[in-house]
Amino acid sequence: MSISSKLKERCGDVCELCNNEPPKHDYTVSPKNDESVQNQVALCDTCLNSLDKKDAGFHWRCVEGSIWNPEPSVQALSYRILQLHKEEEWANNLISSVDLDENIIQWAMTAFEVADVHKDAFGNVLENGDNVVLTQALNVKGTNFTASKGTVVKKIKLVHDNPEHIEGKINDQTIVILTKFVKKG
Ligand SMILES: [Zn+2]
Repeated sequence: MSISSKLKERCGDVCELCNNEPPKHDYTVSPKNDESVQNQVALCDTCLNSLDKKDAGFHWRCVEGSIWNPEPSVQALSYRILQLHKEEEWANNLISSVDLDENIIQWAMTAFEVADVHKDAFGNVLENGDNVVLTQALNVKGTNFTASKGTVVKKIKLVHDNPEHIEGKINDQTIVILTKFVKKG
């Protein structure tokens, strides 16, 4: 894989993270997915391979340099790497001492966002208005009845800010039900 001449010129023909090896890859920092050079970082083989490794902590000390790169894409990727290693003291110290633009931090953190998807016990995606069946008996809090396994709950409502919760009516009472205890009907 080769990198574009624009990117090559920007990076001065060295990897923009480690500043050490020749760049071989134009890495697009997610969630951007176009080939614009401002969304890319020129990476060497070592850095590209280390991105997938959990134990690459030592290699990533190079981020102490790349975090100060003027390019937003390099800052975002460097900050993302720091977050992955934030339990290590050096990374934690660096996170608290850099002063990055809010947009760049947001860009970096998109990699850690969990999609707000409600799923039943079997991984089926749930939507507002679905009918579900209880996969086990539930004690309904605040009442003295137990909803038996197999109870059908019609027209559920997804709890917006919690993908593990839905709301539904049992015995005419609206209750919160954990998604792991239901099956899409
Ligand atoms: Zn490198």
